[in-house]
Amino acid sequence: MTHYDYFVIGGGSGGVRSARIAAGHGAKVALAEKSDLGGTCVNLGCIPKKLFSYAADYGASLEDMKGFGWENIQADFNWKTLVENKNTEIVRLNTIYQSVLANAGVTIINGHAQLLDEHTIQINDQTITADNILIAVGGKPRQPHFAGAEYCGVSDDAFHLDHFPRRVVIQGGGYISVEFAHIFKGLGAKVTLLYRGDTWLHEFDHEMVFFLKEEYLKQGIDVRFQSDIKLVTNERNAYQVHLNDDKIVECDFVLSAIGRVPNTENLGLDAAGIETLPNGQIKVNENWQTSKDHIYAVGDVSNNAPLTPYAIAEGHILADRLYSKGRVRDINLDLVPTAVFSGPPMGTIGISEEEAKEKHLDYKVYRTDFRPLRHTLTSNSERTFMKLIVQKDNDKVIGCHMVGTDTPEILQGIAICMNMGATKADFDRTIGIHPTSAEELVTLKE
Ligand code: NDP
Repeated sequence: MTHYDYFVIGGGSGGVRSARIAAGHGAKVALAEKSDLGGTCVNLGCIPKKLFSYAADYGASLEDMKGFGWENIQADFNWKTLVENKNTEIVRLNTIYQSVLANAGVTIINGHAQLLDEHTIQINDQTITADNILIAVGGKPRQPHFAGAEYCGVSDDAFHLDHFPRRVVIQGGGYISVEFAHIFKGLGAKVTLLYRGDTWLHEFDHEMVFFLKEEYLKQGIDVRFQSDIKLVTNERNAYQVHLNDDKIVECDFVLSAIGRVPNTENLGLDAAGIETLPNGQIKVNENWQTSKDHIYAVGDVSNNAPLTPYAIAEGHILADRLYSKGRVRDINLDLVPTAVFSGPPMGTIGISEEEAKEKHLDYKVYRTDFRPLRHTLTSNSERTFMKLIVQKDNDKVIGCHMVGTDTPEILQGIAICMNMGATKADFDRTIGIHPTSAEELVTLKE
């Protein structure tokens, strides 16, 4: 029986980083992965999504080019080319992950790992023991349950469709539904986006989300709130989506994006005595320990933030704490920037105005919305929105929310400033870069 210091189950963002760092600190490490290395982010999430999103942006800019003098623009979109090129890039990334782990000295085992008890793992025909175990198996799309759900796809399917769907109905009001609405719309489809509540992305600043909704409506995305799927039928080579208000929308693809669930089946959690929450996530404490001290969980399988950079940070810090003899990487896990790659994209960090109100904070709001220079010569009516929330007693910027081209790129810099405790006065004494949209952030008036 082979014994390892550290056995990592799952070769996604969190697992790969943790295995590599632990091996770098001298631990004997193995990593089990039953599919391609890179996890959701590389194979069925962030990377292919962002590539599709770029494709959608190019599509949208064809019309904008005319105002800048480009004439007779003729472009046909070829879905197959996009999917094939995306697949090639993913294979390249899988290979990089493989060599990163191998170069660090991590033993990679392809197969499904199952815990037999709190120190023993079964994988293929091997039985392995380990001192410490990390569960980083991620999640998968939640399957819908209405009648005709078998005609619908989830985000995994959207990356591999044989044909480009000309009419798409999307269910859900989270990151994935809003991002795919932009993708399919930008690539030329007619898109209907259904959300069962009043405000999608409701954990974000509502003013920002409202602004994004207006942008979607201007583009002709059929956004419907208080709307959900009752049943789906399949007739005349199309799908008929029957809604709860008895309306019917016909389409070529129904995408259900109603959240994700942890990948914990056949993992042997019971055999190892690991507790889960009612939603299936593995419950961890602030040290990523499960109910067994030496078994850890990071990433989407746990009850922490389901974001790639967060999982990477968790995996890294954990490996440092276990094997670095005190050299632990300092990462602030309390202030997490995030972006929704909608069109235009949305970036956000810190507190929303709704949270500030709920916490009875004494705050000031600075906001602007404007037509960016890039659209002054186009017929595109897209606008940009920026909002800062500033705590009154110490002048600290505690929230930054933006919708507009490049806002996720801008936000990364703002995140550093906010991590350093920047005040509104710090923003104000910074010289702008002209002409940019970002310069608005240093000239905001109450
Ligand atoms: P989210 O959890 O963000 O949103 C799920 C949406 O589906 C919510 O609007 C929810 O409504 C709705 N919903 C849930 N159950 C049902 C149901 N039975 N019927 C109808 N609607 C339902 O999930 P996503 O799938 O969009 O994304 C999963 C996670 O992946 C995100 O939380 C995010 O962390 C991560 N992600 C990050 C990205 C990024 O960083 N850019 C991109 C994509 C994903 P309600 O709000 O009313 O419950």
